[in-house]
Amino acid sequence: MKQRINLLIAFSVVALVVLSAVQCYLVKTTYDYKVAQFHTQIKNEIAQITNNYSDIDSVLVSKKEALYKNLSETYFLGRKNRLEIKNEVLRNEYQSALTQEIQRKFERDLPNFKIDFAIILNKFILYQNTKKADTIFSEKPFIQNKLYGNLASLNHAFLVRSYVGTTNGNFKNQEYKLLTEDSMYVSVIDWEMIILRRMTFILVLSLLSILTLITLFIIALKALIKQKKVSDVKTDFINNITHELKTPLATLGISTKILEQKNIRENDENFNSIVSTISRQNNRLQNLIDQVMANSLAENEIELQKEKIETEDFLQTIVNDFKITYPEIKIITHFETQKTNLILDKFHLTTAILNVLENAVKYGSNTIVIRTKQFEEQFSISIEDNGIGIAKNKQPLLFEKFYRVEQGNLHNTKGLGLGLYYVDQIIKAHQGSVNVISDLGKGTLFTILLKA
Ligand code: ADP
Repeated sequence: MKQRINLLIAFSVVALVVLSAVQCYLVKTTYDYKVAQFHTQIKNEIAQITNNYSDIDSVLVSKKEALYKNLSETYFLGRKNRLEIKNEVLRNEYQSALTQEIQRKFERDLPNFKIDFAIILNKFILYQNTKKADTIFSEKPFIQNKLYGNLASLNHAFLVRSYVGTTNGNFKNQEYKLLTEDSMYVSVIDWEMIILRRMTFILVLSLLSILTLITLFIIALKALIKQKKVSDVKTDFINNITHELKTPLATLGISTKILEQKNIRENDENFNSIVSTISRQNNRLQNLIDQVMANSLAENEIELQKEKIETEDFLQTIVNDFKITYPEIKIITHFETQKTNLILDKFHLTTAILNVLENAVKYGSNTIVIRTKQFEEQFSISIEDNGIGIAKNKQPLLFEKFYRVEQGNLHNTKGLGLGLYYVDQIIKAHQGSVNVISDLGKGTLFTILLKA
């Protein structure tokens, strides 16, 4: 059963992990799709406002062309090398004017986005007689080749358009053609937030579905474990009660067999001894049945017959009776309180305290210390023994119905696992509480707190 539960848990965990991974993959795919969609949207919007590109820089564009021509001719004359030409193209004087112009246009026509941009020059090639090509430079787009724009880096920026321009010229009766290619890169400020906002619905939905799944999984698991515990506890209880019933029944069986013998019946002494054995076993059976019956009541089903009692006197009487039954056990009382009047059910509380005291003896103690204390509104009765103690991990389960530390078919000590359950129910019915502190091998301290 345990193996099956573990297998089930393992499978469920794997299924959950796979499901979460699929969910993450779907969210990531949606994110990528949304990013692509966002880029397309920005590209389209920019295309619309810059379709008529020349209206941005009609004056500047002609200046730019003039500069390009001038530089080409300087190059033909051999006055400047390629690198110098490149540097002059990039260090043009209309840089800031064009940047501002385009920036203003973005702000006016696309007010919902804050856009940074860069126009990068990729190619600057001269063709003489359409045959001989002279490449001043031809590079992949990178930010150092920025013609104008306010973008500082191409990270997170995306390509909006590439523009190939040709300029025809004539130098010393020689036709030449200048081919340039520039690309516009833009980056939208806070674009991640914009995408996330657009994905809120899908994110919340997937998070909720995963959380629901995990919650359902935990609930199902808890129910399964609880069921398994209940079934274990029931099996233990049946084993225990069968064991408890077997001994008196066997003794009763033997006793009746003996009584059938005529010579026994004729001997008074033997007869009486057998009858008293039968009566003892009968009482034991009765006690067992009473115990099971009494403990089938829950805390709210117990009817208390409360009366005002002097608690220290009441405890002393229990201790005195206990000493008679267990003369070999040393019981020390340290009452820090005197004549405390509490409203209690004498009968049930006596049984509860006796359960704790009997447990102390049953579980290896020879000295028991009983203390009373009062602080503020609480009266505490603590019972400390020097018995075998209880492991820390078992302590939270002690007060559960049928729980025994000694589980399975071990029967070193007799019991049904009902004693402490009863104690807990009775104290709760008094609106009090009981707790345990214990060290394995050292002893156990039970503290009963009652309302003063
Ligand atoms: P039981 O009939 O088994 O004694 P109880 O409900 O009285 O049932 O106690 C539950 C379990 O708690 C016991 O099986 C025992 O292992 C443990 N226990 C109770 N009291 C003590 C104690 N004083 N010292 C050590 N173990 C104890």
